[in-house]
Formats: sequence, C-alpha cells, structure tokens
Amino acid sequence: MRDLYEILGVARDADEEAIKRAYRRRARELHPDAGGDEEAFKELTTAYEVLRNPEARSNYDRYGDPRGPGGMGGAGGFGDLSDLIDAFFGGFGGAGVRSGGRQSNAGRDALVDLPLTLEEAAEGGPHEVDLTVARACDTCGGSGAAPGTQPVRCDTCGGAGAVQQVRSSVFGQMLTTTTCPTCRGTGQRIPQPCTTCHGEGRRRVTETVTVDVPPGVDDGTRLRLLGRGEAGRNGGTPGDLYVRTRVRRHDRFTREGNDLHCELDLPMVQAALGVELVLDTLYGEQPVRVAPGTQNGQVITLKRMGMPRLSGGGSRGNLHVHCRVLTPEDLDAEQEALLRRFAELRGEQAPELGDGHRGLFGRLREAFGGA
Ligand SMILES: [Zn+2]
Ligand SMILES: [Zn+2]
Repeated sequence: MRDLYEILGVARDADEEAIKRAYRRRARELHPDAGGDEEAFKELTTAYEVLRNPEARSNYDRYGDPRGPGGMGGAGGFGDLSDLIDAFFGGFGGAGVRSGGRQSNAGRDALVDLPLTLEEAAEGGPHEVDLTVARACDTCGGSGAAPGTQPVRCDTCGGAGAVQQVRSSVFGQMLTTTTCPTCRGTGQRIPQPCTTCHGEGRRRVTETVTVDVPPGVDDGTRLRLLGRGEAGRNGGTPGDLYVRTRVRRHDRFTREGNDLHCELDLPMVQAALGVELVLDTLYGEQPVRVAPGTQNGQVITLKRMGMPRLSGGGSRGNLHVHCRVLTPEDLDAEQEALLRRFAELRGEQAPELGDGHRGLFGRLREAFGGA
C-alpha cells in the first residue's frame, strides 16, 4: 500500500489548505471523465478523504490505519468513506492476491462475531470466541511435505513462481510474465505430500481465541488480531482475524454514541415535591436528585455514567434519565377527596363528586353566573 502523503504529493506536516490544493491539482489529471485512471483516482480520493479528516489523519499517522489501532471501529463516523478505506486498507477475503496483484500464498482474513451484553461492552476485558479457520498443519509444520521430506524447487519456473513468455507482435517481441502453471506461483513442488493435509500445508480447525475487548465497543466494532486469520498456503503469511462485536439490546438502557438513555417512573407526588432516589447504573447505584416540580419528559443528566469512550483516557459519555410522571389511577374515596381538596386549595376546578354529567352542568352553571 502506498503512503497517503506520497499519493497526494504533500509533506507529512502539510496543512489542510495544502492538502486541498494538492488534491484538486491531482484530481484534474486523474479524473476518469478526463481520461484518467479510475483506480488511481479512487486511491487519490481515499488519501484525500483520510488526510482532510483530523481524526482519520491522526489515526493514520499513529497506527498506519485511519480506523485507529487495529482498524478498530470499522472506520466509524467516516460515512461513505468506510467502503473506500476498506478497499484500500484491506477488508475481508483478500484472497491470495496482495502486493500489486502478484500471486502469493498469504492466508485470508477471517471474521467472527462476538456477542456481548451492554455491561460487558462497557467493562471490556478478555473474552473467548470460537472460530473455524485454516491453521498450519501440525504434521508437516505447514510445508505440505511429508515428514522427513522437503519441497523441492519447481522445475517449470526454477522457483521464481512466474514464467516469462516471449511473443512476437506487430510491435516486435513482447515479454509477458504469468504465474507458473505448475506450482501456481509457489515456486515449489512437493514430491511426497503430507498425508494429513494432502500437501496443502493447512487444515481447518475449530479453536477458541481470547480477544481483549477495549471498554466502550459498540455493536459492529471490529477488533483486528494481526496474523490470527487463515494460515497461508505452504507457509505463506497468515491473514488477520477480525472480531466483530455484537452488543445485545439492553432492557433499560438505549445507547446513542457514548451516551445512554433510560426512563424513570415518578409518581405524581414525588415529581411535585421532589425526591432523592437511587438509580441502578452500569457502574452501580447512583444517587439521583429529582427537583421539586419536575415535569413529565424532563431529563436529568448523570455525568460520566454512559459508555466509556473507545479513544481511551478513561472518559465516558453521560446517562440521560427521562422522567415519566405517573398520574395515579384507581383512587379510593379518601385519596379522591384529598385530591379534590388539593385542587380547591390550588384554585383548580375539580368536577363534582359522583356523576360526571352533573359536574359538567355544575361548571356550565358557574359559567353563566347561576347558582
Ligand atoms: Zn501437512
Ligand atoms: Zn513453478
């Protein structure tokens, strides 16, 4: 993969303006509508989109990946850019084609889901996940050759993995390099294949991997474990393992970025008089002060009781408690009398006792100044 600064042709400390200018200049040359190369234009646009975004740029400078350490968070927040970044920085099933399209024996990346509760996502820590991947064969150590034997150099290509063909054309002689058909690019021939893996050098195994989950992961966050994906062919470089976190819905908290929301049922009188309560949060019980005169829908914010920020530093989002004022139902005679008395004291009109129609006529009489 080429350096993003190199693609744009700017210095590493170039400012926003210089990056924008460089992009405009190169884009004019490379735009497919102007006969430019589409791949090169895509590459240029990706480089620009990353370097103009302060967060992506700082991630790229620090980790070599705009998505942060281990490609974490799946380019979250970069919108449409994520597809481009994935294409550029390697998504899944990258097959054996890497480094400029040359055939290689590199293993594929693997993806596995890790289900978590919201509490587990907030706490982080080691989690185990089962997956089935290709691993180097124990019997032959990944070489594909039976124990005691060695792969030998491929006769067709002499170990180069590629063959050159000379062809005559109207332009004169043309030299074409293709993958060696005998060894499929490995440069090796296995005279006596390992019987366990039939010369593949790999076997599919189911294993348990322990992944260290950083506190604050969201649903769909991807954690990258370098070299823990599929083993390569004939001892080729293994792919990476992506563990995608699947955070289950919580029955009380809903998540919005790093903030959490929940509802709090308040009997009418508590809402009116105010009350000190204890609320169960992700971090244990927390005191909540409901102010006198709290209205339905009012929000009480508990600082730092939300999800930890993935960027670390121990900071957290907030918890927003949405108050739901409950109107009392099924009043008994004494309670009803009390509320009527209360309304009287407040100068609020209460319907008369008993039959609702009489209440209505009562109000009408008042309105027309009658008795
Ligand atoms: Zn083997
Ligand atoms: Zn060969």
